[in-house]
Amino acid sequence: MALRVLKYPHPALRHKSKPLRRVDGELKDVIREMFDLMYRQKGVGLAANQVDLPYRFFVINPEGEPTKGREFVFLNPVLEKRSGTAEAEEGCLSFPEIFAPVKRSAKVTVSAYDLDGQEIRCEFDGLMARAVQHEYDHLDGVLFVDRLSPTGLLSVKEALAELEREFEGDRQRGVIPDDQKIASRLERLEQLRT
Ligand code: ZN
Repeated sequence: MALRVLKYPHPALRHKSKPLRRVDGELKDVIREMFDLMYRQKGVGLAANQVDLPYRFFVINPEGEPTKGREFVFLNPVLEKRSGTAEAEEGCLSFPEIFAPVKRSAKVTVSAYDLDGQEIRCEFDGLMARAVQHEYDHLDGVLFVDRLSPTGLLSVKEALAELEREFEGDRQRGVIPDDQKIASRLERLEQLRT
C-alpha cells in the first residue's frame, strides 16, 4: 500500500476519525510506512487522516530522523489534562512551506494505547506537547490554520489560496476523486476497523 500525504484542502483532512477497534499486522505495516513517509518529508508527526485513513491514531518522533529520538505511536489517544500556554511557530506536512505561530497548552497529559495493546499515559511539555496537540486536532478534523490569530491567518492567506488552486487543478485533472467518492471510501475503511 503506497501512502501519500494529503494536502490542504483535501476533505479527508476535515474528517472526524473514529476509534480503532482492530490492530493487526497490516496496521503495523501502515504505521511503519507512515514513519518513513514522515521522515522523507522532514516532519515530526503524522496523523492517520493525513494519509487518507479514518482512524484515531498518530505517530510522532520529535527529532524527525529515523536514527534519532524516539518513535511514539498513539492509538485512540485522549487528552486528559492541559495546562499553561505557549506560542511557537508550527508547520504541517499537509501545508507545505507554510509556517505560523500557534498558541497551545504548554503541558498536556495524554493517555493512549501503543502497538502492543499496552495503555500508556504520559505528561509532555515543549515540542512533544505541541506535536501531540497538533496531531490530536487532526483526528477531529481541526487544522493548525484554524488556530491562527487574525494576523497569522492574514500572513498565510495567499499561500492557502495557492494550495486551493492546486487542489482544484488536481481535481479537474481527475487526480483527486469527488467528495462523494472520498466519503464512501472513508466509510468503507471505517467499517473494517472501527
Ligand atoms: Zn499537521
